[in-house]
Amino acid sequence: MSLERRDSSVSGVEARASRGMLGNRKWGAVTSQGQGLRIIESLMEMQRMAEDSRLRGKSIGLVPTMGALHEGHLSLIRRCRAENDLVIMSLFVNPTQFHRQDDLEKYPRDLEGDSRMARAAGVDIIFAPTVPAMYPNRYLTYVSVGHLTTRWEGASRPGHFRGVATICTKLFTICRPHRAYFGQKDYQQSLVIRRLVADLNLGVEIVVLPTVREPDGLALSSRNVLLGPEERRQARVLSQALFQAQEAFRSGERDAELLAANIEAYIRSAPLAVLDYVGVCDPETLEPLHEIAGRAVVVVAAGFGSTRLIDNAILGP
Ligand code: AMP
Repeated sequence: MSLERRDSSVSGVEARASRGMLGNRKWGAVTSQGQGLRIIESLMEMQRMAEDSRLRGKSIGLVPTMGALHEGHLSLIRRCRAENDLVIMSLFVNPTQFHRQDDLEKYPRDLEGDSRMARAAGVDIIFAPTVPAMYPNRYLTYVSVGHLTTRWEGASRPGHFRGVATICTKLFTICRPHRAYFGQKDYQQSLVIRRLVADLNLGVEIVVLPTVREPDGLALSSRNVLLGPEERRQARVLSQALFQAQEAFRSGERDAELLAANIEAYIRSAPLAVLDYVGVCDPETLEPLHEIAGRAVVVVAAGFGSTRLIDNAILGP
């Protein structure tokens, strides 16, 4: 089955596009890789295409996203493009990983912009399923990853990692990737996914790529557009605090509690910052450290207005 094939399983998204709701764009247009970008909504169609590609010996790369794409997502897509024959980007705002309904409702959505950016970065297929298709009535099965998910983001957002582990498992079984690409920006998430894949023998290579930042250091995030101008200005304390910790570590500081206290004080110096957590912890287990013997990861989360941001940095090689 060729990627250009158009058939009756054409997605609702694609149908909306052809009715002009997503602008006057031809979805069959040619990408930089010379193949048409397809938007697939149907789970069966996606699974069939993935199986077919595998049978033809093609490697499949998957970039899971919730849309509202930015350069961070694009860095994952470009690497995926370079390493795989077929590039699938999933676009699904996954309700089960949202702890608060208002956060889910105000999550930015921009399908038209996403499709344009995805195509330019070399995506072959956008897999954009509907919520009822992914979680039909009487849905009962969830994936839970144990103690890695209880601290930090897991403590602040109960159920979050259960939702993440569940959706990733479903995306892996539907899209059948050989490799899947994640950002270090969501450090704890990347550990959870690696654990999940190893424990359930899912056979997907997990590639984690560095955090892409704004010129002032703020980690790119789909939620950044929700920040007001003053919140945006003050939000840079998160990355600045992390860079200062890295500098202190390079200068020989190994007292994890002192580093955490300094990071906390710096973030609290921004009047609009509502600190959630600061952790200087073991990079594999995420247990908080007293002294840093080898490497450590610093994880931080804070609210600015109603927008909650996270960031992290590695201390050590
Ligand atoms: P999201 O759409 O926020 O669920 O993110 C999709 C993927 O993009 C996740 O693997 C994120 O870790 C990754 N990502 C988000 N922000 C960045 C960033 N600033 N730099 C690199 N990767 C990112």
